[in-house]
Amino acid sequence: MNVYDSERMADILTPHGYSLSDRADDADLVILNTCHIREKAAEKVYSELGRMRRAQQTRRDHGADMTIAVAGCVAQAEGDEIIRRAPVVDMVFGPQTYHRLPEMLARLDRDGARRKIVETDFPVEEKFDTLSAAGSHAGVTAFLTVQEGCDKFCTYCVVPYTRGAEFSRPVADVLAEARRLAAAGVREITLLGQNVNAYHGEAGDGGNWTLGRLIREIAEISGIARIRYTTSYPSEMDHDLISAHAEVPQLMPYLHLPVQSGSDRVLEAMNRRHSAAEYLALVDKIRTARPDIALSSDFIVGFPGENRRDFEATLQLVEQVGFAQAYSFKYSARPGTPAAAMPYQIEEAEKSDRLAVLQQLLTAQQRAFNAACVGKDFDILFEKPGRAANQIVGRSPYLQPVHIEGTAELIGDITKVRITAHGANSLSGRPADRAAPAHDVAIRAGTPA
Ligand code: SAH
Ligand code: SF4
Repeated sequence: MNVYDSERMADILTPHGYSLSDRADDADLVILNTCHIREKAAEKVYSELGRMRRAQQTRRDHGADMTIAVAGCVAQAEGDEIIRRAPVVDMVFGPQTYHRLPEMLARLDRDGARRKIVETDFPVEEKFDTLSAAGSHAGVTAFLTVQEGCDKFCTYCVVPYTRGAEFSRPVADVLAEARRLAAAGVREITLLGQNVNAYHGEAGDGGNWTLGRLIREIAEISGIARIRYTTSYPSEMDHDLISAHAEVPQLMPYLHLPVQSGSDRVLEAMNRRHSAAEYLALVDKIRTARPDIALSSDFIVGFPGENRRDFEATLQLVEQVGFAQAYSFKYSARPGTPAAAMPYQIEEAEKSDRLAVLQQLLTAQQRAFNAACVGKDFDILFEKPGRAANQIVGRSPYLQPVHIEGTAELIGDITKVRITAHGANSLSGRPADRAAPAHDVAIRAGTPA
């Protein structure tokens, strides 16, 4: 979502004479788009601001200047506290106000006097109206935000406070944007939302559409070959969405479905509103609808009160499901959330130990999944040139990066590829209709995409 927001900020500023710079040190305007989800992410902002302060000084020494802004959820949560702690900051604005950037920049320098700006209110609808008018970057793949905010209030999480209440964009707006993306050459759309499967957009006929209905309609748009959505909340996976996985060929067989823990006691303390058994039953239902679906998830270890047995229940759930990919985190106490005030906070060292054990298991599952892809033929959507000469990179239906030898002409095409080797995070292969060379090039294990 932050990547999406950053791209939109660039779109909004382009008509005002701004262009993207590769190096922050050379920029007239630096926007730090921040994340508040864990303490580490939030603290990074201040070290980065220290660096920007020095870059600003260097520019001033050479007669230029630099405006420094902090955007995103740290900005939303801390507001003018950021300027108090880091006076170098000129502007602070939250994830729901960045569409006002041109106006904020104009206000900053009005009458030649510098006024600090802090904007952290929640005019979501106004934001999307402005964004729709601003146009968007178009590559082969694109994000499309359909829903924002969250009303779930998991006890550890800041999102409901920083991104605000759940809001679904009206169906007509979403479809218009999808059609515009398709016309600009986009082949794959990822529908975005904090709780994307809780989507309930106004349809104009007085009713609301679910995400499943929306997906079926987007699948009708000519040019759109692939649809994905993220992130989903388990208890919002309704029948309509699950059956879309069986019925809509454009909907990719890959689903990010965070579970957080395999212990009912911990899930309850987290206010997750589902048990481990309910999650497993849901996975069964989804796999019945779409047997080749691959699953990914998020996990938190060391939640307050989590004991060895709870942690083992998480390992057991992972064994039972078998994930293609996953993100796992040490619990991070966030100011103002209920869990931060719970008793039995877990020692950092214990959290690290549990995380290492969990990650070992998840990494082994990811490796096994990638290894099982070797020898198969996948439809690959090619997105961009690779790092090596005469190499291009695309994505498998399961979102794995896939490298083949080929030229840029293939970008935007979907081609059948025989997978010949796998690394930790990526695959390589050759067009399935081409005869095997004497030796397929193997990629080194652990080589990033
Ligand atoms: N809405 C999505 C996820 C949003 S946050 C969902 O509910 O699945 C992304 C992930 O960050 C979460 O799934 C969770 O695993 C992790 N996370 C959120 N708050 C955290 C915290 N306080 N400490 C550690 N991890 C956290
Ligand atoms: Fe945070 Fe996701 Fe829970 Fe909402 S559903 S509170 S975003 S973890």
